[in-house]
Amino acid sequence: MDAGQLAFACAPTGAWAAEEAIFVGSEIYRGSSYGGLHPLRVPRVSTVMDLARALGWLPAARYRTSPRAKPAALRQWHDPDYVDALHEAEAMTRAGQPLPEAWRTRFGLGTLSNPAFPEMFRRPATGAGGMIWAAETLALRASGTIHVPGGGTHHGLRGRASGFCYLNDVALGLTALRRAGLRRLAYVDIDAHHADGVELAFADDPDVLVISVHEEGRWPFTGGLSDQGVGNVFNLPVPRGFNDSEMVEVCERLIAPRVAAHGAEAIVLQCGADALEEDPLARLSLSNRAHLGVLDALRPLAPRLIVTGGGGYNPWSVARLWTAIWGRLSGREMPDRLPPDAEAVLRGVGWNGGARPLPADTLCTTLIDEPRPGPVRDVIRTRLTLLERR
Ligand SMILES: [Zn+2]
Repeated sequence: MDAGQLAFACAPTGAWAAEEAIFVGSEIYRGSSYGGLHPLRVPRVSTVMDLARALGWLPAARYRTSPRAKPAALRQWHDPDYVDALHEAEAMTRAGQPLPEAWRTRFGLGTLSNPAFPEMFRRPATGAGGMIWAAETLALRASGTIHVPGGGTHHGLRGRASGFCYLNDVALGLTALRRAGLRRLAYVDIDAHHADGVELAFADDPDVLVISVHEEGRWPFTGGLSDQGVGNVFNLPVPRGFNDSEMVEVCERLIAPRVAAHGAEAIVLQCGADALEEDPLARLSLSNRAHLGVLDALRPLAPRLIVTGGGGYNPWSVARLWTAIWGRLSGREMPDRLPPDAEAVLRGVGWNGGARPLPADTLCTTLIDEPRPGPVRDVIRTRLTLLERR
């Protein structure tokens, strides 16, 4: 395909009008943690909600409390045995009982990455419920956008927990869009990690485009350039230090043209925040402008859009990115400097343990990062050319 003839806005434009965007949140994210040693001990969605409210961006009419998906709804994609085990694991944990040893190997439950904790069913089931609700709501409408920052658990497998993900709310959301009558779907994932669970789920489905841009050589060590599925899977592993200019190139040559050509009735954009420079678990170097650029490029390419969260382990950069995404979806003007109430929200956040440094002051006083441009490296150009030739 000749991507050179296509002109997509892969830098932030903010050009679309305010609309009836919906934010799906829940208080469960405020009161639960994966445990004091886990990267997900930090607050994320609750800080987004607080920051958006401090900015006056989250009026009651735009906010929906996420429903919690029932086991029967989870069985639409997950194995029944696994759903039952996860449900039971929460009850056992709340009763102070250890999980059966065999569940660690069989279901991935009770491991370092997917520990037992008192909300281990209800918290992921809330993310899944939000995604299913978003899918069913949008499918009934001719158009719309919904932000589900608690969604984006792209590593979850049909029959086991993996990579901090107990359920795969993305697969459940795409399945719900399909069941509600939409056929052509596009999934774009710009988390630092490969969307292995989603690729496994839809690699055989030519109607679901699956694009994942992720750091090479990083867990789960899947997502190679050569994966094709049935022609619908496009993986771009990128080297350390991946910068804003490189993301613009990736968006213009891979993401936007492929999504445009697919003719999607709905897009799901997984906006994991771990590809940001400040993230402690990955080595990519994006500013949050890169994510907004992809969002702006995708927005006109389908009538319906769901934006999820995903990874992201620096509580300041996560909150700023996902709040900025909500601001963009709901047509807000981005402030140069945060007003005092909003700054206070970010000043009140911490690592909740560990010996990590405090953030640079700008992570508390601004919402939008300075741009992080750089050279577009040959390795990225070469890989894009290979993907264009498919
Ligand atoms: Zn990730």
